[in-house]
Amino acid sequence: MVWDVSFTCDICGKKKGESNHWWMFVLGDVPCFDEGQPNQRFTLLPWNFAESRNPDMHHLCGQGCAMQALERFMTNRTIEREDTREVA
Ligand SMILES: [Zn+2]
Repeated sequence: MVWDVSFTCDICGKKKGESNHWWMFVLGDVPCFDEGQPNQRFTLLPWNFAESRNPDMHHLCGQGCAMQALERFMTNRTIEREDTREVA
């Protein structure tokens, strides 16, 4: 079994397996925006092996985490995980 590159969901921390249907998203600049409005855009992309190694790309394990990432982006304007990690 060769799986030298392992990907982790940037939202829930799940590891990618071969059969998972993963997505990616990237935050980009918005060329023009109103004052007080976010200056970034959220772009969702289908999984692509070449692009998945791009350090700007965030990895998503599925629809649920994509929704959560979008919600974080719209609410906090960041997708960073909270410092306090929930203990299962
Ligand atoms: Zn996830």
